Amino acid sequence: MSEQTASFLAHAGDGQAEKRNRAFTSVPEVLPVYMTSVFAFDDVKSVDDIYEGQADGYVYARMQHPNNEAAAEALAKADGAEAGAVFSSGMSAIILSILSVVSAGDHIVSSPVLYGGVRDFLEHELARFGVEVTFVSFADPGEVKKQIRPNTKILYTETISNPLMEVSDYPRIAELAHAYGALFLIDNTFASPIVARPISYGADLVLYSATKYLGGHSDLVGGAVTGSGELVANVKKKLTLYGATLGAMESWLLARSLRTLSLRVTKQSQNALKVASYLESHPAVEKVYYPGLAFAPDHALAAKLFENGLYGGMLSADIKGGEQAATAVVDHLGFIKYVPSLAGTATSVSYPAKTSHRAYKKEELEKAGISLGQLRFSIGIEEPEDIIAQLKQALESI
Ligand code: PLP
Repeated sequence: MSEQTASFLAHAGDGQAEKRNRAFTSVPEVLPVYMTSVFAFDDVKSVDDIYEGQADGYVYARMQHPNNEAAAEALAKADGAEAGAVFSSGMSAIILSILSVVSAGDHIVSSPVLYGGVRDFLEHELARFGVEVTFVSFADPGEVKKQIRPNTKILYTETISNPLMEVSDYPRIAELAHAYGALFLIDNTFASPIVARPISYGADLVLYSATKYLGGHSDLVGGAVTGSGELVANVKKKLTLYGATLGAMESWLLARSLRTLSLRVTKQSQNALKVASYLESHPAVEKVYYPGLAFAPDHALAAKLFENGLYGGMLSADIKGGEQAATAVVDHLGFIKYVPSLAGTATSVSYPAKTSHRAYKKEELEKAGISLGQLRFSIGIEEPEDIIAQLKQALESI
């Protein structure tokens, strides 16, 4: 019985060809994009076996997907972690990792200087679910210790803080967390595994906005977490439940981008050190925030903790003359565009008080040391002289 046109067309391009391909001796050099929301089975037992853990296989893309797994595996290995997972955004990776640990009645101690969205979640959302958060500077672990309570479940900070580029003593913070039965969660977005690997210093869950260095080309939104098999499995349960799955195409792009992560971040960090040194000596600049500079308060700590003699591609600078001067600089930066994100191959500038930290109240900005004269630079992979030339003419325009 031959099938009618509408019937066989309904199956065009289905996954049955995969069975034939699997018998071939050649495999694709690059994992293909598995643009499928679900997987097909010939019998009931095969699905039962997967659910029972008797067989490996994929069932439904919200739960597990080959492109998700490929990206997560590569990242976990780069971080020296047992396991990893990827998410639809950095926010979903961070929020669901936190929700996998806390319940109503629990307490979190967090650094106050964080990506604005995370600060908003910790301060306003968690309160609605009965989780209290105390914000305290992580510059002095002794002060962090004073805020720990019997119900404290998480200590939370960023490896390199946004936008002040502060580096906290994260091995000490990890020790503190464990001494009090809490977990240490750290956002490693600004550093990437090329600059810092907090797992080797005791961090329990390492979080990423994969939109930034991991993706690295300003063309995908994603998030990631790495950590022990057990903790990541708990986070994955939330990922599946809340449906924060990273799409197949974005996962594929992420894995593709991880191939050049080391090259990109190395060049970006080398360039950033040169740019920071230039800005530091410029008369129109009040202060430069970059842990790679010898005078930076956290330099010795960063030199001890960071990998490969690198300090990352992010730096901030206070421009003399406040908002007016900072605006003039942004408006005259030539190929350096005003981009409220970071970590692409092209150097970009952001204005924290007007973008990432816009949700902060005036007093909170002042308290955190984020001024209207402060600009944040994400240094790219161009030649450093060209980046400096753009900055030079922009600073001269004030
Ligand atoms: N963490 C840091 C340090 C960030 O800079 C950002 C975004 O800018 C996030 C988390 C949130 O990530 P996403 O925008 O991918 O949700």
